[in-house]
Amino acid sequence: MHHVFHLLLYEGNRKGTGMSLLVVGSVALDSVTTPFGKVEEVLGGSATYFSCSASFFTKVKLVAVVGADFPSRHIRFLKDKNIDIRGLQVRNGKTFRWKGCYEYDLNEAKTVYTHLNVFSNFKPHIPDEYKNEDFVFLANIDPTLQEDVLMQVNKPALVACDSMNFWIENKKRELIRLLKKVDIFILNDAEARELAEEPNLLKGARRILSFGPKMVIIKKGEHGALLFSNHSFFSAPAYPLESIYDPTGAGDTFAGGFMGYLSKVRKITEPNVRKAIIYGSVLASYNVEDFSLNRLRRLTMNDIDRRYKEFKKLTCF
Ligand code: AMP
Repeated sequence: MHHVFHLLLYEGNRKGTGMSLLVVGSVALDSVTTPFGKVEEVLGGSATYFSCSASFFTKVKLVAVVGADFPSRHIRFLKDKNIDIRGLQVRNGKTFRWKGCYEYDLNEAKTVYTHLNVFSNFKPHIPDEYKNEDFVFLANIDPTLQEDVLMQVNKPALVACDSMNFWIENKKRELIRLLKKVDIFILNDAEARELAEEPNLLKGARRILSFGPKMVIIKKGEHGALLFSNHSFFSAPAYPLESIYDPTGAGDTFAGGFMGYLSKVRKITEPNVRKAIIYGSVLASYNVEDFSLNRLRRLTMNDIDRRYKEFKKLTCF
């Protein structure tokens, strides 16, 4: 019955780079309004949330670009989290800015603006020290940049990626081309429906698997996450939270916990992938309890372990 548990994508330390992972994505200044408050130009970005979340489990090597206006205290914060920022370029110009607003349905972010700024002519440059990473995460940025990164690294063992409606609408062809080279694709339910052009999530997931990834993880916001492969299916609940203040970054924080844990255990079996989904859910559930990365800033490994155990109880019957 448990033949799916033998699915093994990767085991061990192939090239001896040790316990670490590479991420490319956005580092941003976000302005966010939710029914519970608003913040202006705070630290955000897909790679920022991802790195901070993954840093609880593994060493993160970050590739991104910011402008000269990027506050140095944010750089210090990343360094304090022991994130390797040799791949973070600082360019003349302005940092990427995103403004979003949520109404009472916190699952849906309305983008007020996306100012790509220094990202509009960004060429990712992967430092030599980063090229042999076994684990690569392509956080949400232009899919052509995500592909560009894959061209520069030496055959990673596991590539996962994220995207969003902005790119599904503007660069769908490029995204589908990228998916051929990706092992695990993580996206939310609305994006899955839009990309697959299919309202039913099961059929949508099949369709997305047909584009190339070995696994698809569909996040359903406050309703948990689903894992699909051609051999298996897993449904993880969401942590029942009463205090959600700002859902921004939940997806990236989920991905950070997920990939961080896999990079730590270095054995991609179905049971480990399931555990990784729960770690991702734990990190995401904390992140939404405050604006920006404020909750992650004060989070401890003890907090993570405690909520992981509560998750276990939740799903046991
Ligand atoms: P999430 O809520 O996990 O989907 O991600 C929110 C983060 O993604 C915010 O911190 C934004 O700065 C960043 N973001 C928003 N739009 C884009 C985009 N088009 N490309 C890259 N990053 C983006």
